[in-house]
Amino acid sequence: MSFDLSAVVRSEVAALRAYPVAVPPGGLRAKLDANESPFALGDSMREELAAEMAKALTDVELHRYPDPQARELRQLLAGDLGVAPEQIVASNGSDEAIQMLTVAIGAPGAAVAAPVPTFPMYELTARALGLRFLGVQLSDQFDLDVHRFCEVLRGERPRLVFLAWPNNPTGRLYDAAAVGEIVRVCCDDGVNALVVVDEAYYHYAGQTFLPMLGQYPNLVILRTLSKIGLAGIRLGVLVASTALVAEINKVRLPYNVNALSQAAARVVLRHPGVVSRHAAAILRERDRVVAGLRFIPGVTTYSSQANFFLIRTARPGDDVFRGLLERGILVRNFSRAPSLASCLRVTVGTPAENDAFLAALPEILGHGR
Ligand code: PMP
Repeated sequence: MSFDLSAVVRSEVAALRAYPVAVPPGGLRAKLDANESPFALGDSMREELAAEMAKALTDVELHRYPDPQARELRQLLAGDLGVAPEQIVASNGSDEAIQMLTVAIGAPGAAVAAPVPTFPMYELTARALGLRFLGVQLSDQFDLDVHRFCEVLRGERPRLVFLAWPNNPTGRLYDAAAVGEIVRVCCDDGVNALVVVDEAYYHYAGQTFLPMLGQYPNLVILRTLSKIGLAGIRLGVLVASTALVAEINKVRLPYNVNALSQAAARVVLRHPGVVSRHAAAILRERDRVVAGLRFIPGVTTYSSQANFFLIRTARPGDDVFRGLLERGILVRNFSRAPSLASCLRVTVGTPAENDAFLAALPEILGHGR
């Protein structure tokens, strides 16, 4: 056979590495690697909600295609977010929303920009489409130098800017005034770029740019249900002007959100109180774990506004990662990523998972009792 795969796959794709997702080994005591919620539906939601969910899923007509416009779901989201349903696109996780945005702007030679380190899918998606990616380095403390960032935007004129707010993997919530300035510069100062404020961790940070949508036609807000107990259903939400949503709908695959996910999301959206109680419990745990880390020498903890936090360890990050894994604790190892030497990202888990982490870390760092 003479078939040559490399002659058909785009060189930009061949040069990429797939988004790394650890397959959790069996017997884990603590799964703290993926910024999910540690609470399963049955644990965190009232029993009647679990029953409602079971009924909704049973009622779904699986022999039919789902509602291609996810109308009922978008109506509920619109009510929740205080926007019109025509301003909303439902997506198969916010990953898909990132992809749709990038496809929509992806002319040859176009650029996508973001402060780095950040969520890798912005860069991966841009590069997969053959676009330029402009990663602008954050400070040592992972803060955003807004003047420098805007200078790069003015010089390079990207079409799309991603700001994870709070940022992943650092947990930092950039100053709202800085984010506002970037949106304004991209709208009014000749840059002419869409600015995506990715609010994946909104339920933990509690701050949003949604009210600015009316003022800035270049602003896009992303949300997801992945961080608040529903990572398994893959539901992302894009909110923008009706004009931009109409364009995004042209690149959206038909039926992109399946019927089971639409039904599950509808149930949860009818019970916002459950989600906020759930987030509050996780925040209490985050603050408890971060306070506990202060007493462990050899660990720097970066303050976080999300359901995870980044640490830098005095021992090599690979060793610490392995030591944790040997004890059944899976975190995310960033220690080989640029500017993240010896950094691990730790998702807030259940109290028992967090205790296991807090007990293991001093042992690994050589301060075990
Ligand atoms: N944006 C950010 C900032 C994230 O951290 C993540 C998940 N790690 C996503 C988007 C993707 O989330 P989803 O599960 O909705 O695709």
